Amino acid sequence: MLRSVKDLPEIKGLRVMVRAAMNAPVENGVVTDPYRLERTLTTVSYLLSKGARVILISHLSKDGASLSPMYEYLKKKITVSFSPDIVGPAARKAVDALKDGEALILENLRLNAGEKGNDEQFARELASMADIFVNDAFDVAHRKHAGVVGLPKFLPGYAGLQFMAEIEGLTPALHPESPSLAIVGGAKLVTKVKLIETLLQKYDHVFVGGAIVNDFYKAKGYEVGKSLVSGADSAKPMIGNSKIVLPHELIVENPAGSHETDAEHVGVEDVIIDIAPDAIDKLSPYTAKAKSILWNGPMGNFEKGYTGGTDELAKIIANSNAKSVVGGGDTLSSIQNLNLMDKFTFVSTAGGAMLDFLATGTLPGIEALERSRSL
Ligand code: ADP
Ligand code: MG
Repeated sequence: MLRSVKDLPEIKGLRVMVRAAMNAPVENGVVTDPYRLERTLTTVSYLLSKGARVILISHLSKDGASLSPMYEYLKKKITVSFSPDIVGPAARKAVDALKDGEALILENLRLNAGEKGNDEQFARELASMADIFVNDAFDVAHRKHAGVVGLPKFLPGYAGLQFMAEIEGLTPALHPESPSLAIVGGAKLVTKVKLIETLLQKYDHVFVGGAIVNDFYKAKGYEVGKSLVSGADSAKPMIGNSKIVLPHELIVENPAGSHETDAEHVGVEDVIIDIAPDAIDKLSPYTAKAKSILWNGPMGNFEKGYTGGTDELAKIIANSNAKSVVGGGDTLSSIQNLNLMDKFTFVSTAGGAMLDFLATGTLPGIEALERSRSL
C-alpha cells in the first residue's frame, strides 16, 4: 500500500531524505521561475514543522548543472544548508550538523553516474545518511534510478504531498465516467502508442490530433506530403477502431504559405502543421456531452506560431462541464498564456511520468514505495 507523509508517526529528530522536483529554470545562476521550488516547500515545510531533519535530493536535466541557485532561493524561506558533495565524508558531516527543523540540499544527483545507473551501492550510501525516504518527485517516478527505486529498498518509503496530489489528480482519468473523451496530440506516435491503446479500452472516444494524426492518415493511404510521420505502422491496427475520431480539416504549410484544406486533399509539397478551427467545431458535440475529458499533446506546431487548434481545443475543454485532466510538458507550455489553468479539474505537471501512469496505472517509483517497509 502507498503511504503518504501524512501517515508518518512522530518524526522529530529523524533524518528524512526527500526526493524533490527542484529542476526549476535558471538564467545566469538565478532561478527565473520558482514554481517547482514553491511546490517542494509544501512537503519540506510540513516535515520541518514536525521537527524532522530534511535532506533534499533532486536531479537537474541539464548536464553538469548545480543546485546552488535553488539553494539561494530556498535559503530565504527555510533554514537550509548546501553540500556540494552528494555522498562521502563531507556530505555525511553536513547531515550530522543538521538540527531538528533544519534542511540540507545535496548536489544534483545526476552528477553521480550511480543515479541513472540505479547503482545499488550509491543508493545504499545515500540511504545510510537517513532514516526515512520521501518521494515527492512524481515527474521522475517512471525512471528506474537510484534516487527513485533504489532508496526505498533500504529505507521506509513514503509519498510526499505533491506526489500524492498527482496520483489523486490523475487517478480519475484511469476510471472515466461515460460519455468520455480522450484527446491525444503531440509529435511522435511511438511515445503515445501504449497510452492510446489503454485509452481505447477505457474511453468512449479517442480524438487524435497533432503530428500523430499524420500517422493515421498515412496508414489510411492518404497523401501526407512532407508532414512529420513517425509511426504509421503503429497506427494501422487502430484505424479500424470505431472509437477513434480523426480531424478532417487541417492547416497545411508549403513554400507558397499556409492554408486550410482537408485530410483527403493534402498536396505532395504540403506539411500538415495544425488542425483547423472547423475540426474543433466538429469535436464540440463530444466535449459538450462528455462527463470526463483527458487531454495530452498540442494539436499543432505551436512553437512555429500554429497555436489555433490547440487554443480552440483548450477553450472548449475549459468551457465544458466535464471533469477534465490535462497534462504534458509541451501541452502546458502551449496553453500557459491562455489563463485557463484553473478551468481544468486537474493539470498534471508530470510529463512522461503522467503518460506512463495513464498507460499502465502505476509507475516503478510508486511500486518501490509500496514494496518498502513502514517506519
Ligand atoms: P507533450 O509534451 O505535451 O506530451 P509532445 O512532446 O508529444 O507533447 O508533443 C509536442 C510537440 O508536438 C510540439 O513540439 C509541437 O510542435 C509538436 N507538433 C504538434 N503538432 C505538430 C505538427 N502537425 N507538425 C509538427 N509538429 C507538431
Ligand atoms: Mg513533450
